[in-house]
Amino acid sequence: MSSVILKKAADSFIKRKHPWIFSGAIEKVDGNPSNGETVQIFTSNKILVGYGSYSPSSQIRVRVWSFNPEEKIESDFFRRKISLASEIRKQILDTSKTNAYRIINAESDGLPGLIVDRYSEYLVCQFLSAGAEFNKNLIIEILDDVFNPAGIYERSDVEVRTREALQPARGVLKGKDPDELIKVEENGFRFLVDLKNGHKTGFYLDQRDNRELILQFAKEKTVLNCFSYTGGFSVYALASGAKSVTQIDTSSSALELANKNIELNGLNISCVENINGDVFNVLRKFRDERKTFDLIILDPPKFAESASQIQQASRGYKDINLLAMKLLNPGGILFTFSCSGHISQELFQKIIAGAALDSEREVKIIKQLTQSSDHPVALNFPEGLYLKGLVCLVE
Ligand code: SAH
Repeated sequence: MSSVILKKAADSFIKRKHPWIFSGAIEKVDGNPSNGETVQIFTSNKILVGYGSYSPSSQIRVRVWSFNPEEKIESDFFRRKISLASEIRKQILDTSKTNAYRIINAESDGLPGLIVDRYSEYLVCQFLSAGAEFNKNLIIEILDDVFNPAGIYERSDVEVRTREALQPARGVLKGKDPDELIKVEENGFRFLVDLKNGHKTGFYLDQRDNRELILQFAKEKTVLNCFSYTGGFSVYALASGAKSVTQIDTSSSALELANKNIELNGLNISCVENINGDVFNVLRKFRDERKTFDLIILDPPKFAESASQIQQASRGYKDINLLAMKLLNPGGILFTFSCSGHISQELFQKIIAGAALDSEREVKIIKQLTQSSDHPVALNFPEGLYLKGLVCLVE
């Protein structure tokens, strides 16, 4: 087996058991490992500390599979990790009411670069690292055996693959080709999900717990759901008795699917207004028209794709939050999110505080939110925490 020998300076990383080893931390590579192949990891004083997958074109040169020098990165290893992750989900979710959830959350479930989501009878996978790709066939076989799904579908059609010298990929990996729309259940609500063309693996599973929280806040309220996608938050708002729901999204197909989802749950579509437009513009228009709402949800896409975009992203977050605060009736509620990993919880709160000052409203945080519990964050991998949310009371 090929090996990497680390620099002395990398000892502290190894002590903290961080699963990423950057190219700059490597002193020397023994052998000629191929893309994704398993390598031994040695400290500068030649102590074997574990195994990882080698990725010669990525800045993250090695992703650690195991810090146990006794481990063999073979079938049993993957089976154990996958089964453990599955057991955890059974403890944290009521699977009689929810059959769409994340089974494997990559680094945080000890399987760097591997995402596996369950959608009813189907599994949808993303192989995002060279190491996950290298072990793909083995992983598919184990997933098939452990979960016995109707089909396993790949949604590795993402840009990050190119950093690992992998082409984007999408298609059936095993079993049946899923229908265009798959019906799933989330907290007892029904949703249609497009596994093949939807965002991420089809649905924003990470917002499940936060969507459920809307049930407590939306009763008899006029709700504005910005960046509504396929109506996740809207369904919960209507189910709890919202007076009206206005949805804004640039994607007309997402809005169409949102309507179907609202009808699928037997909810009243006549109090729903859809606006196919850019939230930044629509909020300005509402401000000029002096339109107001009781509850506003801001769940934008990732504004900061890299550290260099933090400033620009911060301006974007401040802009929409400032506008939303101005549109809220006294005592209104703002659900505001950022899914940019590069924007820390602390920075996000500062941005919202800046928006509150400029809006000349008094704003209080009444709840702090994060990604749903099937998206755990391993403490040795703080990068795993990306979704931050605040529920604010705007006086
Ligand atoms: N809250 C949703 C997920 C939102 S994802 C849920 O719970 O399912 C972000 C959405 O924002 C996507 O549907 C995307 O089409 C939309 N979007 C991106 N930029 C936009 C913009 N500037 N204005 C309006 N919608 C936008």
